[in-house]
Amino acid sequence: MHGLRINMAKHILKCQECGAYTLTEQCKCGGVAVPAKPPKYSPEDPYGDYRRRAKEEYWRSIGLL
Ligand SMILES: [Zn+2]
Repeated sequence: MHGLRINMAKHILKCQECGAYTLTEQCKCGGVAVPAKPPKYSPEDPYGDYRRRAKEEYWRSIGLL
């Protein structure tokens, strides 16, 4: 027994250690896999800065800044 729990295929998990996609909660590398859902907000959101700038420019264009 490895103690692994096999999930249904609809639950794609992503290893937090190596980033591999897996269906088991423990990756082959020994890392813990979590559901591979994109976070709603990430401080590392590549578009977050762009959106902030776009909003600032909009505010500036209507005279609020
Ligand atoms: Zn892994």
